[in-house]
This record gives sequence, structure tokens and C-alpha cells, in this order.
Amino acid sequence: MSKVLIIGAGGVGGVVTHKCAQVPEVFSEIVLASRNESKCKQIAAQLDQPIKTAQVDADDVEATVALLQTEKPDLVINVALPYQDLPLMDACLEAGVDYLDTANYEPPEEAKFEYKWQWAYQERFKKAGLMALLGSGFDPGVTNVFCAYAQKHYFDEIHTIDILDANAGDHGHPFATNFNPEINIREITQNGRYWEKGEWKEIAALSENQVYEFPVIGPKKAYLLYHEELESLCKYIKGLQRIRFWMTFSDQYINHLNVLQNVGMTRIDPIEFEGHSIIPIQFLKAVLPDPASLGPRTKGKTCIGCDIRGIKDGQEKRIFIYNTCDHEECYREVQSQAISYTTGVPAMIGAMMMLTQKWKSPGVFNMEQWDPDPFMHALNQYGLPWHVKEFA
Ligand code: NDP
Repeated sequence: MSKVLIIGAGGVGGVVTHKCAQVPEVFSEIVLASRNESKCKQIAAQLDQPIKTAQVDADDVEATVALLQTEKPDLVINVALPYQDLPLMDACLEAGVDYLDTANYEPPEEAKFEYKWQWAYQERFKKAGLMALLGSGFDPGVTNVFCAYAQKHYFDEIHTIDILDANAGDHGHPFATNFNPEINIREITQNGRYWEKGEWKEIAALSENQVYEFPVIGPKKAYLLYHEELESLCKYIKGLQRIRFWMTFSDQYINHLNVLQNVGMTRIDPIEFEGHSIIPIQFLKAVLPDPASLGPRTKGKTCIGCDIRGIKDGQEKRIFIYNTCDHEECYREVQSQAISYTTGVPAMIGAMMMLTQKWKSPGVFNMEQWDPDPFMHALNQYGLPWHVKEFA
């Protein structure tokens, strides 16, 4: 029996709240807080049982500490934006509460995400006897656990990992992003990066692609991107020689993105407009469809997994370990499309691992540092069943 405080009532926040509410034997009390409490109330109205809602600006550490001291949760689930990671970790330290998130910290003024800022909290969390679990979404999150599971059960040594994220869903809009447009576009328009033999290699944004034959959804063009789980997996997977991340985009998506970039709409520096200072990408976010509104109109499936090669019993081995998720089924269950669903379910499961003490120790942790088995079991149980394709 535990109490969670979920912060951020967006697409992912809605799914986490639904999924926690489905498991009252673990999450006996739920508080949902966000910058606009009205969004929390909309989500609360979709549930069968009552939850509490609150208003909080998570950039304001003192305001969050006050909320934590009033509500006294066992855990904060941060599904606001990556900008709020550090203030929320500070607030958790001050109030003595465990912490979980789904995306690593990114400074607002620079499109760059790295674990170094959050890993720097290691000693403070340890000393306080508190735990922080970083990146408990799908990618990062489930992809890290897939790699740990492959390492434990399928390989003696892993040599290469290609993480592949495909969304074959169609929402019918000419251009929309499946999660927060600002965060999504910042991620895609930065240079691509991958890790090979101990070194980071950088390539121009979206300059390398491959057609990958996905199970269930078929061949799709996937672009090499930098993604945060590369940074922790290259540290924790034994014998790794190369790790890359790929995401599929339609030609239509890439064309729109190129135009938006060429005309300056993806800029993250402030500009003067009619006497106001505005940030073009934030204005763009305001005119694009809200990802939470895509749920009722998105059809099709996602497929996200890890293509892993290495050695088992002296033989070369290759597997693809993956999940596929259907947008319409997700909407029927939690009124959300599959991208928010595939992030929100692992956030709930990560929280469950901590609250049931299956994953519990003071300090700051990435997902692959824990025993993958109970998490993998829970994925099958709570809506994200996984499969392993073994190549001959
Ligand atoms: P949304 O933009 O839909 O939701 C974010 C929510 O956070 C909004 O409700 C917003 O409130 C709230 N918020 C923003 N700033 C603050 C603040 N200062 N204080 C309190 N609340 C705030 O984003 P998503 O739900 O799509 O994404 C949520 C998180 O999940 C992001 O960090 C994203 O990077 C991550 N993610 C991770 C994935 C993974 O697989 N690991 C995949 C997809 C997303 P308001 O509406 O009032 O502004």
C-alpha cells in the first residue's frame, strides 16, 4: 500500500494515472499534479475511483517541497518535461521522497540531453537513503531492460545493439508529433550520434538511414539518431563494441520538418515579435496538434525493440527482442495513443518495482542496472507483451 505523486498531466501523465489506478493493491493513493490543475481534473474524471489533484509549478523547488510535505507520498513519478528533472530531484532530496522519471535532463537553452547532470546526484541520494530511477519509459526504459534481459538469458557476450523504434500509426494530420512537439523536434534535429569501440561518432542530423524489416509492421525506413539510453548502455553492457539508435519517419514527416527548420520555426533561441520575446519552437508547439488529442484518430501499430548480436556458447547469435502495440487498443483502454501508452506503462511498472522493493537501494540508477526478470514479467501482465525473434 503506497502513495504516489504523479507530476505532469500530459499524454504520458494520463496513461500513468490510469495504469496506477488499475493496480490499487500497490498504488493505494494517487495524487496527480501539474502546472494546470484543470488537466489533472480531466484525467481524474476518466477514472472509476477518485484520485486527488493539485496545482504545482515543478520548476519552483520550494512549491514542490511544500506539496510533498503536505501529501507525504512514497514516490514522485515525474512525467512533466525533461527541464523539470533537476528541480524535482532537488525537491525530492529536500522532502525525503524517492524519484522516478522517463527522460533525462535537458537544459532549456541548449538542445542537449546527457545523464551527467542527473548522475551527479548519486552521492546526495545515497547519503539521504533515497532512490532515483532514471528513464523508466519505453526508450529509454524498456529498451534498457530488453538489453539486460538479453545479457542475462541469451548471450555470454553482447557485441552490437541496434535499438529500433517504429511507429506505423496514422493520425490523419499532415504533420504532428506523438509526444511533446518541443522535446520531440529538439531530439530529432540535433546531430546523430552513436558509440563504437569506446568512442562517440557524430553525423549530421538525419543523414543516415536503413530500411529495417520489422515484425508485424514490415519494412520501414529508420534514421540514425542520438538517444539517451546509448549513454548508459555503453557503460553497463559487457563486451559491447557498438550501439546505435534508429527511429522511423515517413517521407512526409521529414519534408515538413525540413521546411520548418529551413524557415527557422524550430529555433530554440528567443526572438522579438511585436514587442514580445518568443521562442519559435514553443510557438510551433502551440499551433501543432496536441499529442494528447491524437488518441481517438490514430490507427495502426508501433514496434520497438533491440536487435542484438553477440556470442553464446562459442557461437555467433542474433536476436530481435520487441513489443508491438496497437494505437486503437490503447485508446480503448486508457484514452490515449500508443506512444504515450508505451511510455506510461513502464513508468507505472518502474514505480511498482520500487514500491514493492523488487528494485530498491539508495542512489541514482539506470534501468539496466537491475534484475530484468520481474520487470519483464510485469510488461506481459500490464499491457506490453514482448517477443524474441531468433535469427538462424
Ligand atoms: P506533454 O507535453 O503532453 O505533457 C507534459 C506535462 O507536463 C503537461 O501536462 C505540462 O503541463 C506539464 N508540465 C510542464 N512543465 C511543468 C512544470 N513546470 N510544472 C508542472 N507541470 C509541468 O508531454 P508528454 O506527456 O508527451 O511527455 C512527458 C514526458 O515523457 C516528457 O519528459 C517526455 O520526454 C517523456 N517521454 C519519454 C518517452 C520514453 O519512451 N522514455 C517517450 C515519450 C515521452 P501544462 O499542460 O499545464 O503545461
